[in-house]
Amino acid sequence: MRRTKIVATIGPASREPEVLLQLVEAGMDVARLNYSHGSLDEHAETAQRVRDASSRAGHPVAILQDLPGPKLRIGALKDGVAELNPGDSVTFDCGSETVGDASRMSVTWKGLADALEPNEILYLADGSIRLRVRATRPGDHELDAVVEVGGLVASRQGLNIPGPAVGLPAVPEEDLALLAHGESIGVDLVALSFVRSASDIEFVREYTRLPLIAKVEKPQAVDNAYEVIRAADCVMVARGDLGIELPIEQVPLVQKRLLALAGELARPSITATQMLESMVRSSRPTRAEVADVANAILDGTDAVMLSQETAVGAYPVGAVSMMSAVAEVTEKTADYRAWNEQRVRRTAKDPAYTVAYAACAAARELSLDAIIVPTLSGRSARLVSAHRPEVPIYALSPGRETVRRCGLMWGVQASWIRRHEVTEELILDAAATVVSLGWCQAGERVAITAGLPSGSPGTTSLLQIQVL
Ligand code: PEP
Repeated sequence: MRRTKIVATIGPASREPEVLLQLVEAGMDVARLNYSHGSLDEHAETAQRVRDASSRAGHPVAILQDLPGPKLRIGALKDGVAELNPGDSVTFDCGSETVGDASRMSVTWKGLADALEPNEILYLADGSIRLRVRATRPGDHELDAVVEVGGLVASRQGLNIPGPAVGLPAVPEEDLALLAHGESIGVDLVALSFVRSASDIEFVREYTRLPLIAKVEKPQAVDNAYEVIRAADCVMVARGDLGIELPIEQVPLVQKRLLALAGELARPSITATQMLESMVRSSRPTRAEVADVANAILDGTDAVMLSQETAVGAYPVGAVSMMSAVAEVTEKTADYRAWNEQRVRRTAKDPAYTVAYAACAAARELSLDAIIVPTLSGRSARLVSAHRPEVPIYALSPGRETVRRCGLMWGVQASWIRRHEVTEELILDAAATVVSLGWCQAGERVAITAGLPSGSPGTTSLLQIQVL
């Protein structure tokens, strides 16, 4: 059984029902709906198709809604593209809709001229074009910049400003409307783009009870990484924008640091973007890409993500199969003992962390076959998963949403169980359920965690070792 989870972005190459079914069969655990593209009706239809594929395949799939956040874009260009050469002057028309060219282009945010100072840097075309602000005219909502590194830019491409951009709303109103749409179609997880601080996440919590994934792609979020990850339910190393907003050579080290912090704080992590990028066009990835996936796993990522590869690529199913194969081989070589002992920062205040650790230590010392985790909210499963036991983790929950959310947690396979108010009955039913699902055999020895009283979340305090 593969332990690392696979997130696949659904797009034109993968939204047909038969392809979705093949993606689930190849190992997709989480389907990502990228709300920066596509219509709301399309997302609703895709979500329904993912649910259908998941029930046809008999494998739970979580749906992740990725909100665009305060992403800046230039407007339409006359010929669709413009060539910018070093030394050229470009005027940005902030908040206007005018069709632009190489010397004048519009930008989606009216406040940009207010937020920037002369000498600050702007990036276009995925970071390949660099401009420096020469003058701002906030009253006219205009700014002039000079091209330092040139290239071709296309209509509506992203514009990145690595500086603090004071005044840029952390969570635009449009995101809140999209969030409400996501809830109405039953998404399981929500990713927030361009967060800068913990308060950005706390703000969105006022509007939803869905688990929130902090996408770390701004230098400010890297500086505040501990607080950001602690405030979130999960973290995504969003290497695409991160590699524009930070010097690209820093991305691997930031990735390692974020994954280690996620481990310390017992938050599931996703490593994203360009993992198997060449598979957009080729049926085989490069050696470097395979090494990248393997290294993210050895660094402790919970999930690896496919973006263009599955959204618009020629080999969406092949990319998921390849990811799965790399994960399975790599996981076998991980240093589980070190992970068990050192990964999570346990706290004297919360016994659930110690019970999770004890379950993993018991599995190792007693050569158990599995750890079974009845869980209402998914928290107990997350804590056991964060310690990285070498044996399978079977989470059982009466909440269908919890079962699906476990899709992002490393090593966790989840299924539904009846709700029990009496702990002894819960343990008996949990033991019977893993056998009837075919996950365990009668006679195997397992650890079962439980709470007292049963039926209330956050009470996990018991560890039972028993023969099934
Ligand atoms: C990224 O920038 O790496 C990312 C995952 O975000 P998006 O795909 O929304 O740009």
